[in-house]
Amino acid sequence: MRKLELDHALKSGEECGCGYPHDRTLKAIFMGSIDEIAPKIGDLDLEPPYAVFYDENTYRVAGRRVMELLEGEGFLVETPTFLFAEEIAAKVEGARTVVGVGGGTVIDVAKYAAYKVGAGFISIPTSLSHDGIVSPIVSLFEGSGRKSILARSPRIAVIDLEIIKTAPRDLIISGYGDVLAKIVSIKDWQLGRRDVGEPYCPTAEKLILDSLEMLTSSIMGSAGARSSLEVLAKALVNCGAAMMIVSSSRPASGSEHLISHYLDMKLGRRYPHGIQCAIGTLLMAAYHELRNPDWWADERYRLKMIREYFLRVGLPTSLEEIGLPRDLIIRTILEARNIRPDRYTILHKFNPRAEDAELILKISGLG
Ligand SMILES: [Zn+2]
Ligand SMILES: [Zn+2]
Repeated sequence: MRKLELDHALKSGEECGCGYPHDRTLKAIFMGSIDEIAPKIGDLDLEPPYAVFYDENTYRVAGRRVMELLEGEGFLVETPTFLFAEEIAAKVEGARTVVGVGGGTVIDVAKYAAYKVGAGFISIPTSLSHDGIVSPIVSLFEGSGRKSILARSPRIAVIDLEIIKTAPRDLIISGYGDVLAKIVSIKDWQLGRRDVGEPYCPTAEKLILDSLEMLTSSIMGSAGARSSLEVLAKALVNCGAAMMIVSSSRPASGSEHLISHYLDMKLGRRYPHGIQCAIGTLLMAAYHELRNPDWWADERYRLKMIREYFLRVGLPTSLEEIGLPRDLIIRTILEARNIRPDRYTILHKFNPRAEDAELILKISGLG
């Protein structure tokens, strides 16, 4: 198992004077077999007793193994709700370290429980479907909608690519979608800085830009020897770290995520998170390209190339392909801003009307 080089921005103690807290809870990322986990944890004083979280699938894939290796107590994650996370947190009171072995739901429920009981947290993703692997944000359901709260980042993450290789293809594609969404989210954040004087952190920005750079190079086949999965893992880690630095999802979640949250509300959990965000990314990239003079001049991040990346990795580029009704998307464009009035994005700036929504949809190429 090798230690992944953390981005310089994470290692150095320097502050950028941006006003954000620059949290650096994350100490290390390990790449390699989970079988070698025990000594690594000992070195980082993440102490027993361990509470190991998994779901039915991830128990078989890795959860049981981790539980045995750490001699921990196991907890089965059943539903992606805050209610459930609260119940399970009450059962792990005595644990000093919580270990989440799984995809988005398990990681988030475990992250929440660790935060609630003040335990250390170890993140062991079994897929690369989203950027919550090392972020401090917990996103779960409350009622019919998804809600995000600020918890705490893991102290370490262990990424075993042999396990991740066995994850369903859709979940990997979702990870690509969640990273490429930052092409829009970073521009929404810049709108907030310019229009309403929101604080802006250059360190977090750099982490996001590095993620985009490494992932898009990898998609275009120019990333060098590293495997594409390793690059995706690193890109997701950087996005999560950007959120940790500012203790907010602000750098990584803009109007494109509001589109996804709206779809969650209307459809339940029909598509993986990053695939919905990808739909939002095409729509909102089209809106920015139409109305925001400060949208990317760099061809790599303009709509035409975003569609090219999507085609290459298997993300949807038309509504028909994914089976989303056109009128639902129009309604989504019109109403998504109401989900989070406090997060300023291009949707809040221009408050689109029906004819705008039609135009956005057309330009996006989705339908
Ligand atoms: Zn996301
Ligand atoms: Zn900063």
